[in-house]
Amino acid sequence: MVKGSRVRLFDTEKREVTTLEPVDGKSYRFYCCGPTVYGPAHIGNFRTFVMQDVLRRALEIGGTHTQHVRNITDVDDKTIRDSVAAGETLEDFTARWRDLFHADCEALNCLPPHLEPSAVKHVPEQITMIQELIEKGYAYSSDDGSVYFKISSYQDYGKLSRLDTRELDLGKTQNERANSADEYDKENAADFVLWKGRRDEDGANYWESPWGHGRPGWHLECSAMIRKYLGKTFDLHSGGVDLVFPHHENEIAQSKCSCGGEFARHWFHITHLRVEGAKMSKSKGNLYTLSDLAQRGHSAMEVRYVLLSGHYRKPLNFTLDSLHAAKEALTKLAKAARGHTSPTYKKLFHCSDFGVFSKAWEKLREDLNTAGALGELFGNLKEANSEQDWQGFFAILGALGLVLPETEAVAVPAEITKLAQKRWEAKQSKDWAVSDQIRDELSAQGWI
Ligand code: AMP
Ligand code: ZN
Repeated sequence: MVKGSRVRLFDTEKREVTTLEPVDGKSYRFYCCGPTVYGPAHIGNFRTFVMQDVLRRALEIGGTHTQHVRNITDVDDKTIRDSVAAGETLEDFTARWRDLFHADCEALNCLPPHLEPSAVKHVPEQITMIQELIEKGYAYSSDDGSVYFKISSYQDYGKLSRLDTRELDLGKTQNERANSADEYDKENAADFVLWKGRRDEDGANYWESPWGHGRPGWHLECSAMIRKYLGKTFDLHSGGVDLVFPHHENEIAQSKCSCGGEFARHWFHITHLRVEGAKMSKSKGNLYTLSDLAQRGHSAMEVRYVLLSGHYRKPLNFTLDSLHAAKEALTKLAKAARGHTSPTYKKLFHCSDFGVFSKAWEKLREDLNTAGALGELFGNLKEANSEQDWQGFFAILGALGLVLPETEAVAVPAEITKLAQKRWEAKQSKDWAVSDQIRDELSAQGWI
């Protein structure tokens, strides 16, 4: 493929935009931290998942094969707490929310990942990783049957999030946390948990391990599943910005210390969505779900459009008004494309000529500027007149994952159709007077 059409993307660790190329020369293998399935995902979560979907689509349309892995977090503090409270097994409880997540992703036209491993099905792999970390001197077990990662044993801890420059005083944190009765038995408060000893409130949710009954710490699942499905070195790792620290920092420590390798070669983090100018939170009641918005008459595609309307590295402010604007924009695109049919998504792979929409592709290709690509899509609509141009149009829509609404066919009243038919017959028999008379009659009624 043409090197020039490769996707470029900002890397959180290197702090620069770099060109994405598969380390194995074949397929771009990337991992996204998936949803914690204890309730419906909100539109903030979907900003992240939609952007990751756009990354994959842009790679594929640009001609790069992908291998997309996204886990399901179905065992952690929240899933256990809420399944116990609901009186359901962890399995039944998380399956319900996982299914809803899948339905929402489908409505948003997010491609399903190639692999979607479940954390609870990978407890043995997680235990093996802890054993390796203990053997190599990076982790220790405590009296309550928990195991911790010893941060002081890993020199590079904090490199991704630049802990040193953020003045995050680990000593201070330690003092603050020392007063917390809820702390487990750690040597240093900054150490993080790999295995949590069983507690009464966990109910039936515990597993056997060399350290007694317990369950894995949340950060471990991604490290264990990445190792199993992508190996020690893979192309890219992604999540919302809140995951940079400590989650991704901890994943790096666990993975590099247990099995070596480069781990992720590129880090892609999506800035948080805000709603009506505020941070999303339960207490503010602004955690919209797709179903909340559907009840207000807004389609998932309108939500997707709004999520694409800002650059992923800038905060995006979601408002209900922006959904109305999205509806209008989608309708405008649909009207412009009337009479042209979109090829299937697979047929758009490896697109090398975007016709008059090549600027839209350039915007997208350069650090996934979805807002810029939408601007160019509208800006060049009037120029589109060849098959190649429309092919380019649908390739951009495909990369953005937008599906256009059906435009309503204009309903023609029966008497008008009858008149038009009569006029056609008159023209056939070269009866121009009648033909002209009918034409005037039609135009008087507003029909051309
Ligand atoms: P969770 O289900 O809480 O594990 O989150 C799933 C994904 O959504 C993670 O990548 C989070 O970083 C991301 N996320 C959470 N809140 C927001 C938000 N307001 N905007 C964008 N992404 C978010
Ligand atoms: Zn993760």
